[in-house]
Amino acid sequence: PYTGPSSEEIMAKRKQYLSPSLFHFYTNPLHVVDGRMQYLFDANGRRYLDAFGGIATVCCGHCHPDVIESIVNQANRLQHSTVLYLSNAISDFAEALASKMPGNLKVVFFTNSGTEANELALMIARLYTGCQDIISLRNAYHGNAAGTMGATAQSNWKFNVVQSGVHHALNPDPYRGVFGSDGEMYAKDVQDVIQFGTSGHIAGFISEAIQGVGGIVELAPGYLPAVYKAIKSAGGLCIADEVQAGFARTGSHFWGFESHDVVPDIVTMAKGIGNGIPLGAVVTIPEVAEVLTRRSYFNTFGGNPVCTAAGLAVLRVIEKENLQENALVVGSYLKKRLIGLKDKYEIIGDVRGRGLMLGVEFVTDRQEKTPAKAETLHVMDQMKEMGVLVGKGGFYGNVFRITPPLCFTKEDADFLVDVMDIVMSKM
Ligand code: PMP
Repeated sequence: PYTGPSSEEIMAKRKQYLSPSLFHFYTNPLHVVDGRMQYLFDANGRRYLDAFGGIATVCCGHCHPDVIESIVNQANRLQHSTVLYLSNAISDFAEALASKMPGNLKVVFFTNSGTEANELALMIARLYTGCQDIISLRNAYHGNAAGTMGATAQSNWKFNVVQSGVHHALNPDPYRGVFGSDGEMYAKDVQDVIQFGTSGHIAGFISEAIQGVGGIVELAPGYLPAVYKAIKSAGGLCIADEVQAGFARTGSHFWGFESHDVVPDIVTMAKGIGNGIPLGAVVTIPEVAEVLTRRSYFNTFGGNPVCTAAGLAVLRVIEKENLQENALVVGSYLKKRLIGLKDKYEIIGDVRGRGLMLGVEFVTDRQEKTPAKAETLHVMDQMKEMGVLVGKGGFYGNVFRITPPLCFTKEDADFLVDVMDIVMSKM
């Protein structure tokens, strides 16, 4: 049993010594002390079904024994900088990761986070093309450093940042977007941005396959292929941000972009890649990777042996436990059950997503799509009281993000939906 400081003591220290900008979910913040696969345990030993942590950090399940074993073995052997000496942990993981990529996407740069990965990807695109202009999507989240905050496109995540050449195109959002599900129409907007907002030559385009922070927004069908074509003819590179949609989460494919039938020039990843260990990566083709030889490029810990040992173990677990198939089967089942709830409750405006990356949007009026933010918070709070943790997102804070570890079962899916149903029936 847990014998450490109480939640109140932790909260007091957090208030005194940690960033005043830290936020926490729930009216009574949750103090978790243990994790096992899809479950978290609080300081009193109470169990919670974690239907959100899959994106925050964990893809194989909390404390997966194979991943822990790899981390501990490597930590016992050696932990060092990535750069200075040879290490098989690093090169083996790079090889394994490259083997999951289509085409000639074979060169891997490691970083410590998703922000760093996207910063590097943007820089590479600019170096390769000699252009500055980047196009990203409204409602996107790509990170919080100078360049990536420019690419991020939700005012609540942006401080006083210089946009530095980033243009934001219309979001191809089938639920709230002006052109509904017409991907080609949104793609025309990208063409317009290129024609009327740049010299006609651009550095590149960055987007997620399914927007995560943005509220599990799937891009309208046909959008990405049309946009990739426009970007290529303007000389730009296409960057796929797989920080959330990657690593088998969408079920039908290993990478989110694959379900759009496109092949990017650069792919970025983080979060689930190390099952909770800080790690990120940029993968590109050799010809593009070459630009980083023009100067010295160095990242002390990006891809250090302990983190890459975790990464390699994650790839093996995904394969060994058929987690992609599981994401597809359980995710499709869960989505069907959530659609069942939509038929029952007027407040659910939309259910969307693929595999184990699902969103449920709450609106007070289905016609007007008025965001039901307070109700979302209430349901989230009450579900936690009943032992189920879900995430929240979307610009208006009215979308449930359901992104569990990929070991989630049908029974877990039933429990989640039943709990949501009970909470909503009492509203
Ligand atoms: N890209 C996407 C799609 C993300 O969701 C995030 C994090 N929410 C990032 C990039 C940034 O990753 P990190 O927080 O590891 O810097």
